[in-house]
Amino acid sequence: MEIASVIVDVPTKQTDRAFDYFIPEQWRRVIQPGMRVIVPFGPRNIQGFVVDLKAESEFEKLRNIIEPMDLEPVLNQELLKLGDWLTESTLCFKIFAFQVMLPAALKAKYEKKVRLSDGSAVKDLPETLQTFFENTDMLDWDDALKKAIVPQLQREAAKGHLEVIYMVKERVKKKKRKYVRPSVLLTELIYEIERIPANAEKQRQVLSYFSRHFHEVELKRLLTEVKASASTVKALIEKKLLTEFEMEVYRNPFEHRTFERTKPLPLTEAQQTAIGPILNAIEQNQHEVFLLYGVTGSGKTEIYLQSIQEVIEKGQEAIVLVPEISLTPQMVNRFKGRFGDLVAVLHSGLSAGEKYDEWRKIQRKEVKVAVGARSAIFAPFENIGIIIIDEEHETSYKQEEMPRYHARDVAVERALNYNCPVVLGSATPSLESFARAQKKVYHLLSLPNRMNNQNLPSVEVIDMREELRDGNRSMFSRKLFEMLKDRIEKKQQAVLFLNKRGHSSFVMCRDCGYVMNCPNCDISLTYHRVSEQMKCHYCGYESFVPNHCPECNSEYIRYFGTGTQKVEEELGKILPEARVIRMDVDTTGRKGSHERLLTDFKDGKADILLGTQMIAKGLDFPNITLVGVLSADTMLHLPDFRASEKTFQLLTQVSGRAGRHQLPGEVVIQTYTPEHYSIELASYHDYDLFYQREMMIRKMHHYPPFYYLSLITVSHEQLVTVVSEMEKIVSYVRAHVSKKAVVLGPAASPIPRINNRYRYQCLIKYKREPNLINTLKTILDQYQKDTKIGLQVSIDVNPHILM
Ligand code: ADP
Ligand code: ZN
Ligand code: ZN
Repeated sequence: MEIASVIVDVPTKQTDRAFDYFIPEQWRRVIQPGMRVIVPFGPRNIQGFVVDLKAESEFEKLRNIIEPMDLEPVLNQELLKLGDWLTESTLCFKIFAFQVMLPAALKAKYEKKVRLSDGSAVKDLPETLQTFFENTDMLDWDDALKKAIVPQLQREAAKGHLEVIYMVKERVKKKKRKYVRPSVLLTELIYEIERIPANAEKQRQVLSYFSRHFHEVELKRLLTEVKASASTVKALIEKKLLTEFEMEVYRNPFEHRTFERTKPLPLTEAQQTAIGPILNAIEQNQHEVFLLYGVTGSGKTEIYLQSIQEVIEKGQEAIVLVPEISLTPQMVNRFKGRFGDLVAVLHSGLSAGEKYDEWRKIQRKEVKVAVGARSAIFAPFENIGIIIIDEEHETSYKQEEMPRYHARDVAVERALNYNCPVVLGSATPSLESFARAQKKVYHLLSLPNRMNNQNLPSVEVIDMREELRDGNRSMFSRKLFEMLKDRIEKKQQAVLFLNKRGHSSFVMCRDCGYVMNCPNCDISLTYHRVSEQMKCHYCGYESFVPNHCPECNSEYIRYFGTGTQKVEEELGKILPEARVIRMDVDTTGRKGSHERLLTDFKDGKADILLGTQMIAKGLDFPNITLVGVLSADTMLHLPDFRASEKTFQLLTQVSGRAGRHQLPGEVVIQTYTPEHYSIELASYHDYDLFYQREMMIRKMHHYPPFYYLSLITVSHEQLVTVVSEMEKIVSYVRAHVSKKAVVLGPAASPIPRINNRYRYQCLIKYKREPNLINTLKTILDQYQKDTKIGLQVSIDVNPHILM
């Protein structure tokens, strides 16, 4: 096998296939499928994944692989196969499908450089450029950018004088530590202790230490324990009594924390009924998808833990996905508490190096359980016994860039491979999953009650329009204000939830209604208080904050919408005695601050916890007896057919924070549309009725779960081009789908322009279109090959955001 098929790191249509390379003698038997290699590609050296080895190639004159980047495969056979499936089902480039499975640290970083091409000399360059190449033949691209000489460089590159090369750089080094061990037999060591000269007392102590601990010790630890200096140890190494060596250690993000070990709790009757079929599937190696439907606090997590226990006892492995936002230490502790060092945790709070270490533990089978956010679904286990997705309805399980996969689909695909069960857990399942459970595609397991049958908190919906009519212009209704006061007096705690991030909001003129928009992207600019600037979230455009309206010159132009900071200020005015902890992107930016703020709140250092989405989940403190939602409607008016579902889920989730223990809880929801069914039904905790209402609406409008969706978006600088190309695409689609499919478009996207590119879309709704994937592929092929006209086409199969 001297030929390797390699998927190269060049994400274009033309290169989206395996290229054959010759394996030089010295790398034969070293290079295996699943390894990364450096290969020459055109004028540059790039990274690629070996997907296959073979004896012959249909191509002649193969180029040589330069070198392997790994010593062992980073992708196993199953993941390689999964990559093909990802490519097919999400219509992405193969290279993206493989890269998404690896931790960031293993994603190649290239240093872009410019150098003289072969046969060119400095004197061929224009004088302005010559100085840059006088002392070096390679120029850093970033430097070139800074010095604003890129256009000149490009001109010279076009003439063939210069070329751009990429040098691969690995991002993270394995962390190593120095260790010392005796290099003689114990008897000899003891004999040597006698022979140490009297003036070398420290050397004697070091040797004595080893006579008591006859094994390797980390150098640093040895030095502190014996209070010796590095030179003492060095002297003993020179005498060949000790040996120094390096050992790879893992950066352990939980190093300084001890976990209280927990034992399985005796299950309640409801839990036993629910866990039975899961344990059965584990024992029988049977693939099945379970939907574990139970309100917050009904004991789902305990079921996860005991199912995993079973899997571990069988010698198998478990993957647990939780939304990034609820990947709090509290959550992690429950898994670490039960399974200790057998748990690896992958979440974005870790540095790239820490994440890499956790991933290595999985790869080396040193752990049995991987807990993490979306991408943990690719944990490189090889004997998976269960995959659990908690809060399965969360939209963060769908990746919004290539590959546009949903973790739920990947879970099912992997579980099929290993013949193992998938458990989807939620108090408010996605409509798709619940519908599948109704149709018995998924196996429904219910936990109808909270532990110890605590009541769900009582919810009161407050009509903010009435507050306004009665002359209350505050962001707090009278009711919520009274209740907050009451809790402070009773020394109980309250959570205030604002469905919005940070202090971001838009600027509007109160006189003429002018809204400051991005000049490139037809969306309103966002006000950032810290930098006192207006920013565009799509293209990065920045502008100053106007103090007069550019339209009517009025002074009454100011930012709108309420941020957490503003709520905090208002609280300070109306309840000056309240101690408030604010949690949003601004206050939780630094590592560990999230946890610290929560601990402070738990320890009673504040009366009110005020925050955004990030406090909606996972909080489980006994003293919280009031939850206030300041504005329930903000999400209801998004141009998204899931807006009602998301509102219902969020309100239910937030309400679940109150009264989880002895003290009963109350919830106040403030809204401008109290009659909306998603708000009304959330206040009754009535998922089943919500499901029925929402299903009727989905059916009426041909939306999931009755129909599947695919979204084609095209963009171009010229409006005419977008429209005419989109028309061609739409008629092509129409000609290739059945009459039952609904093809909508061309229509301007909800965000009609981003970064000076006009955007048009075509939405396809369908039930069964076996040929659609091929039709979509043809469209991609056609337009991605034809890059000249500069049209960008992106296709999202089962989109979650229709913008
Ligand atoms: P969920 O994951 O559905 O929100 P949890 O598993 O977190 O529910 O359970 C809620 C609370 O009840 C937790 O404090 C948990 O320790 C406790 N609990 C769960 N199962 C049992 C049980 N069988 N016996 C006693 N307490 C339990
Ligand atoms: Zn104005
Ligand atoms: Zn913009």
